[in-house]
Amino acid sequence: MKNTTSLNEYRADLHIHTVVSPCADVEMIPPLIVSAALDRGIDIIAITDHNSVANVGAVQRAALGTRLTVIPGMEVQTSEDVHVICLFEELEQAKKWGQIVNEHLPSINNNPDFFGEQFIVDETGDFIASENRLLLTAISMSFEQTYQAVRELGGLFIPAHVNRKAFGLIESLGFVPSDTPINTLEISRHISPEEAKKQFPQIKEFQLIQNGDVHYLADFLGALCFQIEYPSLSEIKMAFNHEKGRKYYII
Ligand SMILES: [Zn+2]
Ligand SMILES: [Zn+2]
Repeated sequence: MKNTTSLNEYRADLHIHTVVSPCADVEMIPPLIVSAALDRGIDIIAITDHNSVANVGAVQRAALGTRLTVIPGMEVQTSEDVHVICLFEELEQAKKWGQIVNEHLPSINNNPDFFGEQFIVDETGDFIASENRLLLTAISMSFEQTYQAVRELGGLFIPAHVNRKAFGLIESLGFVPSDTPINTLEISRHISPEEAKKQFPQIKEFQLIQNGDVHYLADFLGALCFQIEYPSLSEIKMAFNHEKGRKYYII
């Protein structure tokens, strides 16, 4: 089919934590995240904190005027202890999702000495508040309920690091449930897609992506490349669905 749109190549890392994730390094503040991504030649990042969207807007503001696109997202922990990356087109949709997660998050206080601090910051990285509820825990929504709710908000739902024993889909559920029609899974950075498919035959029909799961500034991977018209979630969705010449690959 003739394609008249001009497509460009963009490097992406769609799994980045900030200081509101208790396990993220204290240097994971908006201006340092933006400069570290740009230094690595990355054009698109997604902010995916554990069960929180509190720092997404600050990273977007820190990236204003640069060539970096910041996609709003979250790494949610479903009731089965499966980690899923949820990505949204607009901050407003991510905030709506954040509200739903907030309502389904158990009231357990964070113990910063044990889990780490959960800092909400502004675009310069200055402290605004501490999130007192523990974010690194399961919400009371199942994998399927989470899938439905994210889809209703127009979001993209990608099970995270599916090959990992801790919080990976295969260890927790054993397979991809047939009532969640997804085509893309994330594998961790320490295994090749070929090796992952060999080890886990139940994912061999899926397309696999790799991100940095960035908790430290040195973790940016940028191995995911998109051939798309412009950097946005709608174009990324088209690439995952192989629409109108859009595609992705891992370098
Ligand atoms: Zn995770
Ligand atoms: Zn993560």
